[in-house]
Amino acid sequence: PTAQAESTVQTTCAYCGVGCGIKATVNTEERKVLIEGDETHPANLGRLCSKGLALGETLVDTGRLLHPKVHGEQTSWNHALQTVAQGFVDTIVEHGPDSVAFYVSGQLLTEDYYLANKLMKGFIGSGNIDTNSRLCMSSSVAGHKRAFGSDTVPGCYTDLEQADMIVLTGSNLAWCHPVLFQRIKAAKQQRPHMKVVVIDPRRTDTCDIADLHLPIHPGTDVALFNGLLSYLAQHNAIDEDFVQAHTEHFTEALVAAMEDAGQRPVLAEQLGVADYQLETFFQWYAQTEKTVTVYSQGVNQSTAGTDKVNAIINCHLATGRIGRPGMGPFSVTGQPNAMGGREVGGLANTLAAHMEFDHPEHWQLVRDFWKADNLATRPGLKAVDMFDAVASGKIKAIWIMATNPVMSLPNADKVKQALKDCPLVVVSDCIEDTDTTRLADVLLPAAGWAEKSGTVTNSERRISRQRALLPPLGEARPDWWIIAAVAKQMGYGRAFDYASEAEVFSEYARLTATDNNGTRDLDLGHYSHLTLNDYDSLPPRQWPLPTKAPLPDGDQRLFGDGVFFTPSGRGRFVSVRYRAPATQVDSHYPLTLNTGRIRDQWHSMTRTGLASRLCGHLPEPFISIHPKDAGRYQLKDGALADVTSRQGQARVRVQLTDQVNLGEVFMPMHWNDVHASRARVAALVGEYVDPTSGQPENKYTPVQVHPW
Ligand code: SF4
Repeated sequence: PTAQAESTVQTTCAYCGVGCGIKATVNTEERKVLIEGDETHPANLGRLCSKGLALGETLVDTGRLLHPKVHGEQTSWNHALQTVAQGFVDTIVEHGPDSVAFYVSGQLLTEDYYLANKLMKGFIGSGNIDTNSRLCMSSSVAGHKRAFGSDTVPGCYTDLEQADMIVLTGSNLAWCHPVLFQRIKAAKQQRPHMKVVVIDPRRTDTCDIADLHLPIHPGTDVALFNGLLSYLAQHNAIDEDFVQAHTEHFTEALVAAMEDAGQRPVLAEQLGVADYQLETFFQWYAQTEKTVTVYSQGVNQSTAGTDKVNAIINCHLATGRIGRPGMGPFSVTGQPNAMGGREVGGLANTLAAHMEFDHPEHWQLVRDFWKADNLATRPGLKAVDMFDAVASGKIKAIWIMATNPVMSLPNADKVKQALKDCPLVVVSDCIEDTDTTRLADVLLPAAGWAEKSGTVTNSERRISRQRALLPPLGEARPDWWIIAAVAKQMGYGRAFDYASEAEVFSEYARLTATDNNGTRDLDLGHYSHLTLNDYDSLPPRQWPLPTKAPLPDGDQRLFGDGVFFTPSGRGRFVSVRYRAPATQVDSHYPLTLNTGRIRDQWHSMTRTGLASRLCGHLPEPFISIHPKDAGRYQLKDGALADVTSRQGQARVRVQLTDQVNLGEVFMPMHWNDVHASRARVAALVGEYVDPTSGQPENKYTPVQVHPW
């Protein structure tokens, strides 16, 4: 390569919700990209994990979907778009707008997400757009709304370095958000008094930096944090002034917590930990003002997920530890743009830009802004219900974008059958052969990570630019372009006439700022009228960015002033009580299955599976089981085993380890039926969801394991 052929581009990692900045040195002629951490990006300050570092190896054409296809035959874009548009229009005319649906993804960019939401809710007139983020962080969204009156993450990553104690609950940060783990590890080395508490049934690699590990029984988090709230009240550790001046419903929540937690020895037994461990945690929490509680899928993916989130937030409200340096509850999201998606309205129960269906003024505002007389009047179906409606025939046309529900939704075999029976299945994807693309009537080739341009929001509310590095392969197109093209074919041309993703983003920013007198959390007023140049050079910044305030310099926190977005302006305590998981073990299904990620793979491995250095870590689907349980069920280390639940079956290799408790097993989420026959963990998981958030219970499924 010549020096002239190379250029350096600042972009954002394709994978987790940390949202690391990347410096990419691009050789367009050879389609080669050298990846380094961007030391100017506040999320990672130059660090990257194994997955981010290997991104350059994934930019090959292996397995890419390169051309539009209708019923398996390559066709023109025009014909494919017409087929999709006509199929949706005909279904809507015959069966009404709720007979169609979009199922989208935290892999989409904000601009893609915004247009998908605008088309479905604004112009088709149904709320039936939901996202795989429902499986990731919808319990956090619901918990935030209950406590804060808005879906707001109060803190920022620097809090993790300024804290004197970090509580990691339901989070294997070392594998799932490795750069945040690296930041905490480095901070702990510099400030050895900093304590780390890990609350997780498994002894994961995150425990390497733990001063205390509480291996609680799966699903008992509400009881634990109710016990903590009771302890704080009994030991004069409540910030009475803060509670009095800035919160509501404290007394009710405390009574519920005290009744729920009961006597300490009983609580310790219920949680499955020693009483002295509990005492240590409670004491440390009571004594350490600068405490951050980080939570992730282990909290969210539960039928009590929203209550778990509120049990955690209750303890922070009670101690006034929120929105100030080094303290606060902190939800870390799984996907690169789960945050951006929920901001624009990618969840079925949210209207757009953090506005809600049940606020008439919000509804009016969105309708007027979009000039959308057909705006949906009620929430649509959440992910699990959406695919139920496909199975029952109520939904007759579905467009799935950038996700693979046949390997990720609970009761995945039912989802597979539902899509087989659905009259029209459209899939936009970069990859040709997935469990879901195999069932598509129409396949639309989407541009990949290195080929598209837009914005993503990370777990600390920081909006960063993702920039195209290479031209799209084949006839692939950006998702926002595909959605706008279908909308035009459906007759909504005037509302979807965008020359670039910058115009889409600017319109979205105007919507966030319209008639918003500080009554909503999300305000991107400063970005309302961006030029193409402004957009191209957009630095990573946290929202809110209201026009009435100067552009922020440095990190931003919310609620430090004790003002929340609830009608009263007060933070809300929520009374919560422990509820057992939806199903229980019995003599047929005696083990509880936990699911999660592994260190070097991402989702269904369509990208990370292309990098040989990522495939050596854990190369095969497996189940982790305690040696004593393995003995009981005649399982040998390294042998194959059949895992069966009330829903389905999988066949995986046995891995013996004492990192899981007796009676508990763990399987990773990454493998699917394209990789190996019967390797989908989602086929085992039941369709039990949190009643508030609709998030499925991926962390607790009774199973049996037999030698193959
Ligand atoms: Fe990418 Fe997440 Fe790794 Fe950062 S921590 S490099 S965002 S996968």
